[in-house]
Amino acid sequence: MNRRWIWSLLTLAVAAAGAVTLYQNNQARLRFVSGTTFAMNTFIDQKWFGSKGQKTYDRVTAFVTEIEQEISMHISNSDIALLNQKAGKEYVALSPEVFGLLSRAKELSGASQGAFDLTIGPLVESWDITGLNPKVPSQEEIQKDLELINWEDLLLDETNSSAMLLREGMAVDLGAIAKGWACDQIRQLALEEGITSGYVSLGGNLMVIGQKPDGNPFYFGVRDPRGDATEYIGTVSLEGKTMATSGDYERYFEEDGVRYHHLLDPRTGYPADGGLISVSVISEDGALADFLSTTFFVLGREETLKHLEDDRYQLIVVDSDLNVYWSSGLNGNFQPNQQAEGYTFHQ
Ligand code: AMP
Ligand code: MG
Repeated sequence: MNRRWIWSLLTLAVAAAGAVTLYQNNQARLRFVSGTTFAMNTFIDQKWFGSKGQKTYDRVTAFVTEIEQEISMHISNSDIALLNQKAGKEYVALSPEVFGLLSRAKELSGASQGAFDLTIGPLVESWDITGLNPKVPSQEEIQKDLELINWEDLLLDETNSSAMLLREGMAVDLGAIAKGWACDQIRQLALEEGITSGYVSLGGNLMVIGQKPDGNPFYFGVRDPRGDATEYIGTVSLEGKTMATSGDYERYFEEDGVRYHHLLDPRTGYPADGGLISVSVISEDGALADFLSTTFFVLGREETLKHLEDDRYQLIVVDSDLNVYWSSGLNGNFQPNQQAEGYTFHQ
């Protein structure tokens, strides 16, 4: 074999090895782990790209189960169940993460103009909208519950990582913030594992890291609040963000033609009736987004539309006349679905 032939063969071999490596790299990049589990009273969808996908998936699954054990009101020895049982009696020791979540929820309750209160537990229980026996409580019952709601009566002892509810009968309910807060914890965990692409969806809350491996953004549907679960009023791309949605279609019952939904107004004791049917909040801060979606829903249309432009978050708001409004910061990210029947899009 002459020298030219040897060089040609060598070049070919190097090129082939290069192609195989490139192919393997692409395969590694495109490799992903995804699946759905059930915890925190909701379905949890995860998708993580890259070689650490499985480890991240397993850690997230373990994390949400652990958090549920700590904060569920229905698990009798959870930190929150104990806090509620010992209301008016004594302080209860809390894990550091539950203490952090309670502190944040208390601080935000104080900033909500009375629309959000983490001690709303007694009222949630009387309506039982998410439970087995939903009903319209009597006026006396509602009055009694309202007297037990006051975030200022949750006492926090940071030195001992413990808390106490001041009066017997009071109860904390973290349902309006815990999932968004969990999104923040999951982001931290996934970044620790080196994840650069993927997402988690917990009920009405989403958290997205990076873009798809092909360089396109991850797109998600914004549910049509009057359609079925497969219908959307638009799609939104969320890179490095979380999105929380509160809507009157999520959990409700109907009686005498009235829809009683699960977003309760702590000022009246009744489901909020402020002219909105869905509020989505997009923010890097998952706990803030979850808190705000509930708070804006309760505050109602007029107040919410005043907050359309803010540096910390963006909104997609649907009112009861099916008008859809969104923050200008979402232009280019939010694509309204012009086919969605009955909606008017305003931007
Ligand atoms: P979300 O879907 O995030 O809006 O949370 C709704 C859940 O939060 C309800 O099922 C209740 O457990 C709880 N909740 C309802 N109304 C309020 C409120 N005004 N403030 C705090 N928590 C609430
Ligand atoms: Mg919320």
